[in-house]
Amino acid sequence: MSENLDQSAVTVLGLGPMGRALAGAFLDAGLRTTVWNRTPGRDGELAARGAAAAGSAEEAAAAAELIVVCVVNDDAVDAIVRRPEVADALRGRTVVNLTADTPGRARESARWAAEQGIRYLDGAIMTPTTSIGTPAAVINYAGPAELHQELRPTLAALGGTQTHLGEEVGRAAAYEIALLDIFWTAMAGYAHALAIARAEGIGARELLPFAKGIGAILPPLFEQGAADLDGGAFSGAGNPMTSAVSSMAHVVHVSEEHGIDAGVMRAAEAMARRAIELGHGADGFLRTAEVLGHR
Ligand code: NDP
Repeated sequence: MSENLDQSAVTVLGLGPMGRALAGAFLDAGLRTTVWNRTPGRDGELAARGAAAAGSAEEAAAAAELIVVCVVNDDAVDAIVRRPEVADALRGRTVVNLTADTPGRARESARWAAEQGIRYLDGAIMTPTTSIGTPAAVINYAGPAELHQELRPTLAALGGTQTHLGEEVGRAAAYEIALLDIFWTAMAGYAHALAIARAEGIGARELLPFAKGIGAILPPLFEQGAADLDGGAFSGAGNPMTSAVSSMAHVVHVSEEHGIDAGVMRAAEAMARRAIELGHGADGFLRTAEVLGHR
């Protein structure tokens, strides 16, 4: 294991919007940056800023001891790094995989890398391309703590808050999946609310201040929910599930009156009804997290 990894140079494999942002931040930090992308022609602006444009992934892998990969998913990562010429070039080097995928895929990639003699750290980028290299960036890592510690000075070029979540290599992806669950179901709820509002003649801008108010209610509810889940008690004093389920049924009813699909809210209502059937009607809605986990 290299104790003196040369961190004055870095390679970035993958030049989608995020790969370009990462490479740009490394260049801004003064690192010798080599870039490669499957489809040629994405490296023009980076090359103009001083990046070395490699002609192949194996050439790019050989150009630095630290290789950052950021492509659409881990199938794409495998398509790049598991080609024998690339795997050979990576041997003895360090890969930081900032591609989003599942915890299982992160574990599988780490296993493969270990077999190949490649040091491997998994990462998950939680903020948009514009945040990279600024204080707004949020990037989580999982894998060997020692390796993360060693790479910190270089990864600092990506900016913001960078957290090592643990040695278990699936952990950054697991956090990401949980957070994406919140994000996409919330966005589905907002999109659905906009459709209902429009059907009732309410414009998105008219709804906006009230929608933002609902958003602001959530953080304290998350805090209460975390305390409840850890403590095993689910206070429903303010809003028991028997009451919550009735307001959900209203949303389903009005959606369907307007011919708007109510699948998302029906799913939420079904979660609550199941918890009530199991005798938790006096509890708050987040009791459903436990019920879901025990199916
Ligand atoms: P994409 O997710 O669209 O990824 C595009 C990159 O993947 C391109 O370099 C593309 O190469 C490459 N790619 C796709 N399929 C293959 C393949 N089979 N073999 C080799 N390369 C392939 O864009 P982003 O750059 O935005 O995202 C990269 C990662 O960053 C994703 O996992 C994404 O979830 C994550 N992320 C992105 C954020 C964002 O705001 N954009 C925010 C947070 C995370 P080619 O040009 O040849 O098609």
